[in-house]
This record gives sequence, C-alpha cells and structure tokens, in this order.
Amino acid sequence: MQKLEQVYEGKAKKVFRTDDPELFIVDYKDDATAFNGLKKGTIAGKGVINNQMTNRLMVKMEKAGIPTHFVKELSERETLVKRVSIVPLEVIIRNLSAGSFAKRYGVEEGIVFDAPTIEFSYKNDDLGDPLLNRYHALALKLATSEEIEAIEKYAFAVNDVLKAFWAECDVTLVDFKLEFGKLPDGTIVLADEISPDTCRLWDSKTHEKLDKDRFRRDMGGVEDAYTEIMKRLLAHDAD
Ligand code: UDP
Repeated sequence: MQKLEQVYEGKAKKVFRTDDPELFIVDYKDDATAFNGLKKGTIAGKGVINNQMTNRLMVKMEKAGIPTHFVKELSERETLVKRVSIVPLEVIIRNLSAGSFAKRYGVEEGIVFDAPTIEFSYKNDDLGDPLLNRYHALALKLATSEEIEAIEKYAFAVNDVLKAFWAECDVTLVDFKLEFGKLPDGTIVLADEISPDTCRLWDSKTHEKLDKDRFRRDMGGVEDAYTEIMKRLLAHDAD
C-alpha cells in the first residue's frame, strides 16, 4: 500500500490518498483544539493513543454488526480506512448530562438519564456546528430519511457496546460524538474516531475526568488521563 499525496488536513488528523482509489490513510496528530478552533494546543502522545484506541473500538463495533470504515492499522499513528464521503452531521449520544447539554438546559453535570439521548449538529465550522433536528437535516439535504434512520440505529448500538465495555474498565461513558460516511455504493458506515477527544469518560468511582475536558477546561494532567484511559482499555480488551 503506497501512501500518496495528502487530500485533507483536519484539526486532529491528516488524510492521504493511496494507490487504491477506494482506500485512504488517516494519520493522527498530537494537535488539540477546542471551542471551534479558538483554543489550540498539543497533547503529547495523543495521536498514538487515539489511533490505537479508535481501531480497537472499531473492531468491537464490527463484531457487534455495526459497519465501519476501518481496514487495518498501519503504524502507531496511521490507519488504512475505506474512502467515504462524510455525512455532514455530528451525531451526539448522551447517557449523563454534561458540556453543552448542561449549559443549554441549565442543569448540573452528572445527571444520569433513564434513556440515552441523541442530537445532531450540522458539521460546518463557519456556522459553529449548529444544532439541528432530522427535519432540518432533510430540508438541507444533508442526508436522506433512510440514511438518518440507519445512523440513529447504529449510533444507539455503538452506545450499547461502548457503555458496556467502558463499564468493565470502571469508566462511565457520559457522552460522545460520532460521524458517519457513505461508501460509493451508498452504504452508511461508522467513520472518524472514537477516542478521549470525542467521548466524555469519567472514572466510575471518583468521577475523575479521563478525556479532552481536561484540555478544554485547563485542568492539567491531560497526557496522564489519555495514558490512563488507554491502559484501562488494553487491560480489558484481549487480542
Ligand atoms: N464532541 C466532539 N466534537 C465536537 C463537539 C462535541 O467530539 O465538535 C464530543 C465531546 O467530546 C463530548 C460530546 O461530543 O463527548 C458532547 O459534546 P457537547 O455537545 O457537550 O459539546 P462541548 O461541551 O464539548 O462543546
């Protein structure tokens, strides 16, 4: 597999073309941003952790019948993925109140919901990723109703698998963001990453934050939190 020219550089990853037109290489960076790019920094070793964690979790999703873009880990920071066109929706599932939910509705963080919630935002940095519902998504032709149905079904299925796995690691899955892509034949697959950058993960007993909120909120111990969460994953994820 030959790594050809870069086709895209995002906030945390670079994407490269390969000699197979259907496969891309994702290269994870240590760069971290928050608040729509207003806060910038680096988290040493994050790219390696996010790459390896995402891949292990993607394999779990595949085993649970959720199709993903994952093909093969190539190196510490590089992964071969299927080329998809990203559906411009950020899909957020929440099990407990936190972050923008707590702020928007004026509630404290840490309220445990009876059932998980789902919300969408329009993936558009210029607009600040505005919240929208499925009718807005249809009106804007961001996806079809069949695609939105598949996305919702997969997102809740991801939550079931992830929540159960993190519970084994003594970690509470508070909330997370997913992105989905479309294969050339139109199939919806889980894409992007599942990492401490995109999930809120709290120690089940102490409620210590083991995710990017430590960076967003200048709490310190960011690298240690990423290392700790990866250590717990490796201890419970037998090869
Ligand atoms: N999230 C993300 N990228 C975004 C926005 C949110 O990965 O652009 C994740 C975030 O890490 C958290 C969940 O989605 O796990 C819910 O985030 P929230 O809507 O509370 O936004 P925030 O408080 O992070 O602005």
